[in-house]
Amino acid sequence: MSEQPSSMPSAALRPASAAMACPTCRAAWRGVATCPRCGTDLTALMHVAVRAWELRQATRAALCAGNQTAEALALARAACQLHTTPYGQHLLALAFLVNGHMAEAYALIEQVLQEQQPPFPLSPGEG
Ligand SMILES: [Zn+2]
Repeated sequence: MSEQPSSMPSAALRPASAAMACPTCRAAWRGVATCPRCGTDLTALMHVAVRAWELRQATRAALCAGNQTAEALALARAACQLHTTPYGQHLLALAFLVNGHMAEAYALIEQVLQEQQPPFPLSPGEG
């Protein structure tokens, strides 16, 4: 059972489970050019993933520059819209924080933590 948070901002946030999949058979995409299940050409999907990766690299560079926080946020959002990855969500949360968007950062971090499986079950009362 999971409760839906009522105050979750919906803009720019997509669940990490919205991973890329074959458009024909919905098999999870594993970074290959041809779907191993149905043989669909996944080259376009690879281009999108590469573009998202480039945007994440640019986000990281903008964050490290220190004076490009607004650009970093725009880049991080664009990367997550193309391809949501845990690393991309971490960058987006960081970009929210450095731009002072605490509520969005908090909501995204909560979402990422909920989607992560804990490495071991916590006992009641722990955590
Ligand atoms: Zn397929």
